[in-house]
Amino acid sequence: MHEHDVVVVGAGGAGLRAAIAAQEAGADVAMVSKLHPVRSHTGAAEGGINAALRDADSWEDHAYDTMKGSDYLGDAPAVEALCRESPEEVIRLEHWGMPFSREEDGRVSQRPFGGLSFPRTTYAGARPATRCSTRCTSRWSNAGSRCTTSGT
Ligand SMILES: Cc1cc2nc3c(=O)[nH]c(=O)nc-3n(C[C@H](O)[C@H](O)[C@H](O)COP(=O)(O)OP(=O)(O)OC[C@H]3O[C@@H](n4cnc5c(N)ncnc54)[C@H](O)[C@@H]3O)c2cc1C
Repeated sequence: MHEHDVVVVGAGGAGLRAAIAAQEAGADVAMVSKLHPVRSHTGAAEGGINAALRDADSWEDHAYDTMKGSDYLGDAPAVEALCRESPEEVIRLEHWGMPFSREEDGRVSQRPFGGLSFPRTTYAGARPATRCSTRCTSRWSNAGSRCTTSGT
């Protein structure tokens, strides 16, 4: 029988990020997932990741666009946390090796995307999400951890 401090069920972006955070906090973490991380919905996304990185943008505008895009059904505290923390998380992903597309001056590129009042979508060529999943998976496995996949 396996024993762990934390078991994360589902190895999409949310599960991978939670597992990395738990592991960095010192827990012995296992992940169990029906699909391999790069085959999750996270790996299928093609548009990019939104984050208010520019001075002319703000997490509040990002939050407003997100709430509006949800027809005001989004969970406001969760939306606030997402939008406040996404700039730091995107830069963290970059430091983990995510090959974001860049401007000529070296800044991470951002482009317009559906529902946005500001071009705040970061991307990495044509397959940002697969690359994001791959970076998180590699960060996870480089720490000596395992992800068990089951089912189809
Ligand atoms: C084609 C497509 C394009 C998209 N484009 C974008 C985009 O450009 N930008 C954007 O922000 N969002 C986009 N999205 C939405 C985005 O991909 C999802 O909101 C996000 O990936 C959800 O992440 P997650 O970790 O919560 O879930 P997922 O990535 O779906 O991961 C869930 C994981 O849980 C596993 N699982 C499920 N049930 C069980 C179980 N009972 N036991 C064990 N494991 C289980 C699954 O196998 C999977 O690995 C897109 C989605 C799709 C499908």
